[in-house]
Order: sequence, then C-alpha cells, then structure tokens
Amino acid sequence: MTTPRGVTGAEGRGGGPDVEVWWVGVGAARDEFVRDLDEVERGRLAGYLREVDQARFLLGVTLVRRVLARRFSLPAAKVVLDRSCSECGKPHGKVRATGVELSVTHSGDLVGIAVADRPVGLDVEQVDPGVDVDAVARVALTEAQVRELSGYDGIARARAFTTYWTRKEAVVKATGEGLGGDLRAAVPDGVQVQDLDVGVDHRAALAVVDAEAPVVKVYDGKELLG
Ligand SMILES: [Zn+2]
Repeated sequence: MTTPRGVTGAEGRGGGPDVEVWWVGVGAARDEFVRDLDEVERGRLAGYLREVDQARFLLGVTLVRRVLARRFSLPAAKVVLDRSCSECGKPHGKVRATGVELSVTHSGDLVGIAVADRPVGLDVEQVDPGVDVDAVARVALTEAQVRELSGYDGIARARAFTTYWTRKEAVVKATGEGLGGDLRAAVPDGVQVQDLDVGVDHRAALAVVDAEAPVVKVYDGKELLG
C-alpha cells in the first residue's frame, strides 16, 4: 500500500472532500505501458510526433488506469475510460470514468492526475523565464494580481505569473466552463483552489468544486509504475 508524500488541508478529519494527486516525471515512461491502452488511446499516442509528447500522454493514461485499477480492484487494462467530446462526441474530450472525477495535466518534466468524488481540476505549468508577463497579465489576471506582480522581477515574476495561471486553469478544468469565460474573473463561489509544491521549475494548482477546503494527499506515481 502506498503512503502519501504530503497531506494538506483540514487537520484531522474536516468536512472537505478527499483528493488524491499523483505526480510522475516524464522520464518514467516505458514502452510496456502501451499494453494497457485501448484502441482510442493507442491512436492518440500514435498521433503525437514528438517523443516527449508521447511520453506525457502515455504517462497520463497509465497513471489514470493504475490509480483507478487500485481503487476499483481491476486490472489497469480493464478500466473503462470515456473521452467523448461534449461538443461533437469524438474521442478527444476530457477523460472520464464512472463513479469518479478526474483531471490530468502535463507540462515540462511533470505529469499529474487528480482523483476525487466531485469535480476537480489539476494544472501544472513549467515556468518559462521568457514569458511575456505583461501581455498575458492584462487579459488573464485580476487587477489585484497585476498589482501584486509588479512587486516581482525576473524569474520570480515569471513564477508568480505562472502560479496565477495554474490557479486559473485548475478552476476552469474543475468547473468545465471552458476558456470562453472571463479569464480575469475571480474564483467562483463554491470552488476551492490551492497551490501545490512541485519544485522551482514548475508551478501547480488544484481546484475542487466544494464548499469546503479539500484534504489533499500527494503521491509519487513511480510507486504505481514498477
Ligand atoms: Zn469535439
């Protein structure tokens, strides 16, 4: 049985929902993981041209399959995942499974998934030191955030900006409102959002649709890949 590397949220047993977060480095991908993929997933995998994109996709699928396999006591290949797009029905939508809420994210060196019993959004972004903070901040951040950003320089500024961005993405992923919504809007009522520590090169945030802060358990995905 795996033990979490970190737990944040309500002390002891608060009223908030449990959320599992699993992270793995992109270098952990192995060809043998492809065995557990279904036809749709193999097609998607083959569609990625760059090896690193294949590795990220393969690891995301593998984490989802293995975490759910553990949760539902099934072989990973038997976990039924639905990727139908809510717009057109084609299998390029957000991954879903019956009885559980999922969110998958990857950027730079990291792949992560969040699993909960209510809508959840996980986002990781590699910090890009060259990001044009001012250009994006104007359309994507609240006025308060823009003011706060002015207190930072250089890489600290890029990190702070990326933190805000991941929070926003996590909320959008949890609520499913899509990028058509106002990017500058504050966090909606009934959504909890928090930062997750993933080291200095990446920023990450988790959002959960619930009235109370979640109890978040963070795991090392390598434990599932052995
Ligand atoms: Zn579609």
